[in-house]
Amino acid sequence: MTVCYIGNSFKYETEAVLKLFLPIVTFDFLFEEYPQVGDFCIIKREPNNDGYTLSVTVSLDGTNESLEETRSGDFSDKDDEAALCKMLYLIMQKLKGVTPAWGLLTGIRPVKKVNELLDRGLDKAEIFSALKEKYFVSDEKLELAYSTAVTQADALAALDKRSYSLYVSIPFCPSRCSYCSFVSHSIESAGAKKLLPDYVKKLCEEIAQTSEIARELGLRLDTIYIGGGTPTALSAEQLEAVMSAVKKNFDISKIREYTVEAGRSDTITEKKLEIIRDFGATRISVNPQTMNDAVLEAIGRRHTAKDVVSAFDKARRLGFGNINMDVIAGLPTDTPESFLQTIETLCGLDPESITIHTLTVKRSSKLFSEEERRVDGRKQQFHFENENKILRQNPYTQNFGSDFVHFLRGMAVSEMVLTGQTVLLEKGYLPYYLYRQKNTVDNLENVGFAKAGYECLYNIYIMEEAQTILAVGAGGSTKLVNTGTGKIERLFNYKFPYEYISRYDKMISKKDRIAEFFAGI
Ligand code: SF4
Repeated sequence: MTVCYIGNSFKYETEAVLKLFLPIVTFDFLFEEYPQVGDFCIIKREPNNDGYTLSVTVSLDGTNESLEETRSGDFSDKDDEAALCKMLYLIMQKLKGVTPAWGLLTGIRPVKKVNELLDRGLDKAEIFSALKEKYFVSDEKLELAYSTAVTQADALAALDKRSYSLYVSIPFCPSRCSYCSFVSHSIESAGAKKLLPDYVKKLCEEIAQTSEIARELGLRLDTIYIGGGTPTALSAEQLEAVMSAVKKNFDISKIREYTVEAGRSDTITEKKLEIIRDFGATRISVNPQTMNDAVLEAIGRRHTAKDVVSAFDKARRLGFGNINMDVIAGLPTDTPESFLQTIETLCGLDPESITIHTLTVKRSSKLFSEEERRVDGRKQQFHFENENKILRQNPYTQNFGSDFVHFLRGMAVSEMVLTGQTVLLEKGYLPYYLYRQKNTVDNLENVGFAKAGYECLYNIYIMEEAQTILAVGAGGSTKLVNTGTGKIERLFNYKFPYEYISRYDKMISKKDRIAEFFAGI
């Protein structure tokens, strides 16, 4: 589709709205130029005698729809952009016959919007009405976002403004899952094996240097999160080295939470669990993603549902009283029945929290890249080829042809997510953090559910951008938050372990910015 901007260049937000309805269409963008052929969208702001006119025209599969509005007075660019997005949304809704549950709310933090309105003193009815009016969000999603805001209110209120969380990044995994787009390195590759000793060494150095920075600034450590990747993909000795560096350099006696993402059950051993426990972690994640063995195989996992249960039991036996389990709705070959079965099996294990993610398919995942190589140079076709493959694998979708939107509905991912969320609510789990990602099937959300008192503080603070996070390790992203002004600044570590090791000194010198940021706060 060709998207033309006349008298404006509101590309970012309008493209996001178009993608709600046309998730896999490739767009060409023109500025101050009209389209020649094919499907198009014209987004226009032009002066008239009374002021100016905003208009949107879309031509899709031979059908044309337009909306326009004349304006005069004091409107900002942001107001005009919002009005054009609304018009575009209404046109696309009509042309595609689809009403996205999150309306035209395309950002990744819907709860933040609710929290902002709560802070301004609005009550539930007023919040619902404001978000419906502005973004067309459905009642069902408003209810979810509102309940999440209510659950996390205490954690946000209890926040010490000079506290921070420490994130330790371990970007290694035992093997790569087919849907994964994360920069994670298979621990079995020769390259990773060679890099790991140096990686652990540099990571321990960075842990020590970061503790020094925080100490000099008088910041107080509140929570720790060792994530990945799969931190337990490290050997027991390497894991011990990292956790011992944390213990040696930080005062962990006063922190409120210490999570280690144990992640995949094929990496969880009794010895590693003992190290995690003995070095002070209070919370772990055992992430099956699905408890259906056929789906585990389809996504390239080398463990079974039985292995997950055994890892979970081991952790319980060793005294872990706060365990999270992650699942993903929409995995290739999964079905609503099997997804429900997964949720029920996990509830049977009775973990303290369960997080329901929705599948995000990115170009860097194996699901796509395998196809990309095969249809080299034919980008558009690569999408359809790949989707056809997924369609054929799934009994619910094998008859849907190559229409991706049909695929999304055929997978009934919305149904999976809704049913899963309903079961968890019935079992007494409450939503406590929520975020959305781009390229997520059906534009759905990821929601962490927890029993009361077991909400993961780190997850809440990172998602609501409420606390500074000092990150160490490759791919780590430090987020500096001025809780007074709301100003946020990010510092990025190198993404790839080899870069992280070889350019460590350059990277660490950028951390001077942390002191500058906190000067005067
Ligand atoms: S365990 Fe997670 S990070 Fe590792 S390959 Fe699988 S999806 Fe990616």
